[in-house]
Amino acid sequence: MEKVIERFLRYISIDTQSSEMSGLSPSTEKQKMLGKMLEEELKEIGAEGIDYDEEHNYLYAVIPATDGGKNEKVLGFIAHMDTSPEASGENVKPQFIYDYDGGIVKLGEDGKYTLDPANFPELKKYIGKTLITTDGTTLLGADDKAGIAEIMAMAEELLEDQRSEVPKYIHGKIAIAFTPDEEIGEGTKFFDVKRFGADYAYTVDGGEIGELEYENFNAAAAAVTVKGLNVHPGEAKDKMLNAVRVAEEFDGMLGQSERPEYTEGYEGFFHLMRFSGNIEEAHMDYIIRDHDKVKFEEKKEKMQRNADELNAKYAKFLDKTITVELRDQYYNMKSCIEPDNMFLVENARKAMERLGIKPIISPVRGGTDGANLSFMGVPCPNLSAGGHNFHGRFEYVPAESIIKIKELLVEIACSF
Ligand SMILES: [Zn+2]
Repeated sequence: MEKVIERFLRYISIDTQSSEMSGLSPSTEKQKMLGKMLEEELKEIGAEGIDYDEEHNYLYAVIPATDGGKNEKVLGFIAHMDTSPEASGENVKPQFIYDYDGGIVKLGEDGKYTLDPANFPELKKYIGKTLITTDGTTLLGADDKAGIAEIMAMAEELLEDQRSEVPKYIHGKIAIAFTPDEEIGEGTKFFDVKRFGADYAYTVDGGEIGELEYENFNAAAAAVTVKGLNVHPGEAKDKMLNAVRVAEEFDGMLGQSERPEYTEGYEGFFHLMRFSGNIEEAHMDYIIRDHDKVKFEEKKEKMQRNADELNAKYAKFLDKTITVELRDQYYNMKSCIEPDNMFLVENARKAMERLGIKPIISPVRGGTDGANLSFMGVPCPNLSAGGHNFHGRFEYVPAESIIKIKELLVEIACSF
C-alpha cells in the first residue's frame, strides 16, 4: 500500500471531532492525540523547526530550502486536524472498494445505507478506481485528514530526496501547519503567523481533485430583536403590537428570492437560522452572505433600512420596535489574491495541468481558514484534498486522488 494511504488510515483512526459547545481551544482535548502523533512523525521524517503549541494544538514545521532553491519567500501548506461535530468520528472503520464498477456501494454489512450513483452521480467519475468509504456509522475524516496525509507525504518525499545521493527536487523553504477546530470556524483563532513563517500558503481542504479556490463569501451575522405590546385580545384593537407579526413582516421585506434555497454561484443571500418569540418579544438570527463586497454592504444596509421603516411605522406603539445588531464574520479573500498574488492560483493551475489534473476553479459558497489567514497577512487559496460528501456517513475518497494530490503538492512546492 502507498505510504500516503497508510498515513491517511492512521490519522482517521484517531477521533478528533470538534465541538461547538465547550468554549475551549482546542474545543476537544482528544484533538491533541493527533497533534502529538504528527509531532512525532515530523521528527521521524527529519522535518526542521518543529514547534508544537500544545496548549492550543497548533503544529508548525519547516522543510528547509534545497541547494539552488531560488525562492526567497516561504511557501506554506495547511490542513486541519479536527472533524465535523455533525457526525461521529469515533471508531472509523473504512471500507475499500477496489476496481469500483459504477454500481451501488453498501456501507457496512447490513446495507442500511448505500452510496448510490443515482444520488451521487460524481461516483461515475471513479469507475475502475479504489474508493475508501465509511461503514455507514461514522464520517470518514477525509476532511481534512486526506489533506494532512498529503502534506506529510509530500514533506517526507522532499526530505528524503534532500538526503539522497542525487537529489531531483529544487525548492525554497517550505512551512507546514496543522490546526484545530476548523469545523467550528475557529481554525485560525490562535494561529501564529510568525511561528508559521510563510509569506503565502495553500490550505489543502477542498473536495474533488482539481478544486482550486480563491473566492469565498463576505459574511456577517445579524441578531434581530422585536419588541411588542401585549393587550387582552378582546380589547386589542389599535392597542396591541404583536412582536411575532412584526418579525414576520420584517422577514418578508428581505425578499423571498434572496434565500439559500433559491441561490447559487455568485448569488448572495439572507439566511434566517433561528426564530423564536411571543407577543411581547421575538428574536431572529440571520447570516448574510455575498461574494461581492458592494452587494454585501447593501444587504446589511437593507436590513437596517427595513428596521428603520418599521420603527417609523410603529412609532405610536413603541419608541423602537426593532433592533438589528450586525457583526462581520469574515471577508472574501479575493481582495487579498487579486491582482498581486494571482501567481498562487496560476502556479497551482499550471502544476495541475502538468500532472493531467483538470483544474476546477469556482467560488466557495462559504468560508475557508485561508480566508482568515489572507486577512492576517498570508494570502492563502484552497486546494482540493480529494474527498466527497463531507461531514457525514456518505463521505468517501478515491485512493488515487490522495496519491495524485500528494504528487501535486510536490509539484507546486517545486514550482516557486
Ligand atoms: Zn475541512
